[in-house]
Amino acid sequence: MIHPPDSPTTLGEGGDNAIAWSIGITADEWTLLILRYALSDGVTRFQQWQDLLPISSAVLSDRLKRICEVGILEQAAYTDKPLRQEYRLTPRGISLWPMMAAICGWESTWAHGQAEPVPVLVHRRCGRRFDPLMACACCGEMVEPREVTGRFGPSGSWPRSAPNTTMRRRSSGSSALGPGFFPQTRVLVGNRWSAAMMGAAYLGAHRFSEFQRRLGAPATVIADRLRRFQAIDVLLPTGEERGDRSSYHLTDKGRAFFPVVMSAIEWGQRWFLAPEGPAVIFQHRDSDHPFSVLLRCSECSGALAGRDIAVLPGSAMQPRHGAIPS
Ligand SMILES: [Zn+2]
Ligand SMILES: [Zn+2]
Repeated sequence: MIHPPDSPTTLGEGGDNAIAWSIGITADEWTLLILRYALSDGVTRFQQWQDLLPISSAVLSDRLKRICEVGILEQAAYTDKPLRQEYRLTPRGISLWPMMAAICGWESTWAHGQAEPVPVLVHRRCGRRFDPLMACACCGEMVEPREVTGRFGPSGSWPRSAPNTTMRRRSSGSSALGPGFFPQTRVLVGNRWSAAMMGAAYLGAHRFSEFQRRLGAPATVIADRLRRFQAIDVLLPTGEERGDRSSYHLTDKGRAFFPVVMSAIEWGQRWFLAPEGPAVIFQHRDSDHPFSVLLRCSECSGALAGRDIAVLPGSAMQPRHGAIPS
């Protein structure tokens, strides 16, 4: 099935919900990196990705095929003689810009010590380097992750939200990639189990057994992800000083990643509609209205739009290839 690039996909009743689709599509290291260059640098051609990423032709072909199938990129001829195709972002693909901006902002604030700086975001409206800050689209106020509550909606449940076996592909991990390729984001959402673990943590999972039960994942997978999340100070044992290593809490760094997860879920709920209704419903805590993400510029507080964001390589002063399209 090819998903329409500019209208939502209607999902089957009782099947995978928008969260499962969002995870199934975006929580893949190579997909994140391919989309990073499409969104921030305007990359459209096979050879350009090959020059930018240490990726084999077979893996790149596989990912591009999949990304086209889900309606994020579409092939278009850029020359007739000889016929050559490029891959252009669709409206569905362009609407991933908040997630990508949130990733860049989080990496530049929290993933220190990289040999190669992460891309720098510039707000064209105020002309300054900025970080995207999360606000409430309903009331416009800046919001801390603690001020957002989430609960399952009519199509929400753990089994319907977790990565399922049909979505899992053979792994062709990019773990050998050096700095500059969102190394810590890849730890958190570079594969399906990790992304589902982060989602479970935001929805209040603390104990090893809770993660295991909610995700239906093997204990070895849970243990591995907990170890990796601890190594980058995102999730830490709650009672470490008492030797209790069975309960975990998100650190400030872990909570700061929330806009990435929130943007990914919103993207999923915009483009993959379950007939029963949304998978998860967010509320602006202590208010009477729902919560959805509005990203604001840290410098001028203006609401961000994709077309107003320029992406600079970490050390250069001029935009490399223009803006993230809106
Ligand atoms: Zn609000
Ligand atoms: Zn600004």
